[in-house]
Amino acid sequence: MIIVLRPDATKQEVKHIVEKVKKLGLKPWVSQGAERTIIGVIGAEDILRIQPLEVFPGVEKVIPILKPYKLVSRDFKKKNSVIALGDGIEIGSNKIIIMAGPCSIENKDLLIDIAQKVKAAGATVLRGGAFKPRTSPYAFQGLGEEGLKYLADARNQTGLLVVTELMDLRELDSVEKYADIIQIGARNMQNFDLLKEVGKSKKPVLLKRGMANTIKELLMSAEYILSEGNFNVILCERGIRTFEDATRFTLDISAIPLIKSLSHLPCIVDPSHAVGKWGLVPPCAKAAIAAGADGLLIEVHPDPEEALSDGSQSLYPEKFDELMGDLRRIAEAVGRSI
Ligand code: PEP
Ligand code: MN
Repeated sequence: MIIVLRPDATKQEVKHIVEKVKKLGLKPWVSQGAERTIIGVIGAEDILRIQPLEVFPGVEKVIPILKPYKLVSRDFKKKNSVIALGDGIEIGSNKIIIMAGPCSIENKDLLIDIAQKVKAAGATVLRGGAFKPRTSPYAFQGLGEEGLKYLADARNQTGLLVVTELMDLRELDSVEKYADIIQIGARNMQNFDLLKEVGKSKKPVLLKRGMANTIKELLMSAEYILSEGNFNVILCERGIRTFEDATRFTLDISAIPLIKSLSHLPCIVDPSHAVGKWGLVPPCAKAAIAAGADGLLIEVHPDPEEALSDGSQSLYPEKFDELMGDLRRIAEAVGRSI
């Protein structure tokens, strides 16, 4: 539930309510707005029937959050969350953030070459997997920690921020050390232990929708992260399994406005994994921006034929550059910038 305080509530009154909520075995989250403070209360709220908080000084009203996700919900926070990614770059504001790079980190020179090219085209975040979730155990599994070091080198050489996937709790320290944003992939969207651990991290988390998960389940997974104290979560639509097999997955465009109506968290789109075919990536990327996405995650490779993973859905740097020009015009048309 949400406790809305009166505009003239004192610091002492806020402190008193927070202490009382904690004593009842509930978790308070204080959100200091420009005009008034609100306190989100999470836990077994039934106890508040016996101890109503309306009676406390400074409280204006108590509103129940009826949705199963609480901290993630628009009911908890009306305004869009703007998340600081590092180096003064934010996501969730008017500016759209483009994340681009190879599916996997293959070697240092190639990664730096791609990083320079996507940066020149206007990307602000470099993507690249060091720990790869592959369907086949015989396929390239990623360079592991060595890949993370190359990512850090690319960061130093280009000034791009970096995002990379965390698959296993045992890798959390290294991923946290090298990455600016921790990616939780589609296959781990409901790995609740992993979600709880990244919830204790200070780093922003890019949470991808599972290929067979509903939007409600995505938001519940995000709730796991926020409930541990990390409010820096970016949601990502990356295509879902449907009966259609002409594309790798089916891009759920309606997920963008729906997620943005249900939650205050930023929402981005990964058109590359959604469609699986490079020719379909630009139109879907454009549709995502038109539908209100706060950013994109796009796979780019200078030699897709030789890529160690996902070459078929990777854009040549020249195509990516061309796409960026189109995206700028669409962003402008919907009152945003890139
Ligand atoms: C990726 O972005 O590298 C990836 C594996 O995507 P997903 O988890 O969406 O399949
Ligand atoms: Mn990939």
